[in-house]
Amino acid sequence: MELVIQNLSKTYAGGVKALDNISMTIPTGMFGLLGPNGAGKSTLMRTLATLQNADSGSAVLGDLDILNQKTKVREILGYLPQEFGVYPRTSATTLLTHLATLKGVGENASQRREIVSGLLQRVNLYEVRSKAVATYSGGMRQRFGIAQALLGDPKLLIVDEPTAGLDPGERNRFYNLLSEVGESVVVILSTHIVEDVKELCTNMSIIHRGRLLFAGSPSQAETSLAGRIWAKSMSKDELKKCQQEMDVISNKLIEGRPMVRVYSDSRPGEGFSPIDPNLEDIFFYQIKRNSNVA
Ligand code: ADP
Repeated sequence: MELVIQNLSKTYAGGVKALDNISMTIPTGMFGLLGPNGAGKSTLMRTLATLQNADSGSAVLGDLDILNQKTKVREILGYLPQEFGVYPRTSATTLLTHLATLKGVGENASQRREIVSGLLQRVNLYEVRSKAVATYSGGMRQRFGIAQALLGDPKLLIVDEPTAGLDPGERNRFYNLLSEVGESVVVILSTHIVEDVKELCTNMSIIHRGRLLFAGSPSQAETSLAGRIWAKSMSKDELKKCQQEMDVISNKLIEGRPMVRVYSDSRPGEGFSPIDPNLEDIFFYQIKRNSNVA
């Protein structure tokens, strides 16, 4: 099964073009939608989750027309929004059972009990199932969010910026959980964190200002810049000069000294070494290019 998006566009009242003729194909497995804040990720996620309408274009999953068969889409959809909203003072078991009832999952109360406890085990919250969700840490809440999104065995799972605010340990646990789920369904993970995509996703795209800038695998992304990224550690004064004269993709302080990465077909200057491009390079490179386009 694959999700085929064609020529999707959305302009908000006020004139912001949040989706500008986006086309891409998303196969089964983990797909990373990478873009900085304001790129249009949530607009795309919310459109696919049937929560808002596009102006034009189509999105088809198997033989399901996502934009026009909303009720059917909701039956096969799991959605973890960016803001999951208010966390009540009820236990995980009670809340998940309530959500299962609302979604029509399970034929009777005892079947629902089984499904709920199975899901809580799967997201590793079974031990704390009787505690109020309001007392959970950020990582536990996100895992609870995945449990509710998995109710009803969705074929399409959409998770919008799920790792923002998680500490490294929580992020790892969350990665492991998502990668297990991603084996059998279409999972779309939107994020501005390059590492999320690198660690988890077999396919990805980069969007910025509503435009699709890259689609492919993370390793294809990296090889697309092979031989054209150069690095040099330099003083802050030298950095200023370099920024005026060269195509600087990024600079990071390493032990207090700027490490500058430059895009160039050949060695851009004295002291630069060729380096293997990473996903962050292509992300910054594409965004810089697109920022210069009207
Ligand atoms: P992302 O999820 O990548 O941060 P969004 O889809 O939230 O991006 O936003 C894309 C652009 O659309 C931004 O410029 C944002 O300000 C604008 N935008 C988002 N929602 C609305 C809205 N309801 N009304 C007007 N503009 C919006």
